[in-house]
Amino acid sequence: MKRDGAFGLSINTATVRRQGDLVAILAACARHGIGAVAPWRDQVAAVGLARAARAVRDNGLALSGYCRGGMFPSDPSRRAEVRDDNRRAVDEALALGAPCLVLVVGGLPQFSRPGSPPTRDIAMARTQVEDGIAELLDHARDAGMPLAIEPLHPMYAADRSCVNSLAQALDLCDRLDPARGGALGVAVDVYHVWWDPDLQARIARAGQERLLAFHICDWLVPTADLLDDRGMMGDGVIDLPCIRGWMAEAGFAGHSEVEIFSKRWWSHPMEVVLATCIDRHRAVA
Ligand code: ZN
Repeated sequence: MKRDGAFGLSINTATVRRQGDLVAILAACARHGIGAVAPWRDQVAAVGLARAARAVRDNGLALSGYCRGGMFPSDPSRRAEVRDDNRRAVDEALALGAPCLVLVVGGLPQFSRPGSPPTRDIAMARTQVEDGIAELLDHARDAGMPLAIEPLHPMYAADRSCVNSLAQALDLCDRLDPARGGALGVAVDVYHVWWDPDLQARIARAGQERLLAFHICDWLVPTADLLDDRGMMGDGVIDLPCIRGWMAEAGFAGHSEVEIFSKRWWSHPMEVVLATCIDRHRAVA
């Protein structure tokens, strides 16, 4: 099944982050006929924003997103730093031509912004997340850059994201952007939401206006590392065609973005990983 338009293949550049810098990754994607990528901020910073934007253009690539803004919870004294950091992320997304800035919102302040005093108050962290997104939304609206909240699996609630289900992310969207004007939505990453018994209904609830990105990989059993043991599509237990079907029914027409953090896949040559992504995207995703 070949899909050039909706659900066409995009490579999240973290998938091959250990095999080359961003310029090398974008050139390799283009060589493989891959039409879209989603770069990470640190990879962009390593080569420079102007050079990264030029490499996107010169290779004829589209973006499926920009990773990432967020990490809102912090010591109150650092609020301006967090705000400015996120505004810069919006501006970089704009310079690169991204369709959305993905937000990983952060967990407890001491992990989200190291150096912040330790706390166990996850409710307070969630309030800071909501306030932070509300504030960033003004800047993002002015820039015309949609924000995509990515709910993360609950195992990351302490250190990476205290938004842990699609329902929770959509509730945030409804409170902060009740008009559903396209400024705020969600990134659906199968790794984080595949287990959700209400996933189909939640994707339907999100609808076209809120579905801004679709990240794919697979869930391995057993999972050896909480962060860096994601599976290649087809190697695990996620029913990818089923979830893709729900996304299509809801009106999503963007890319299938392969995002695999895996020590195993980082140890293979970039060409092998990209060729495998192409094959698996065609065969099982
Ligand atoms: Zn993701």
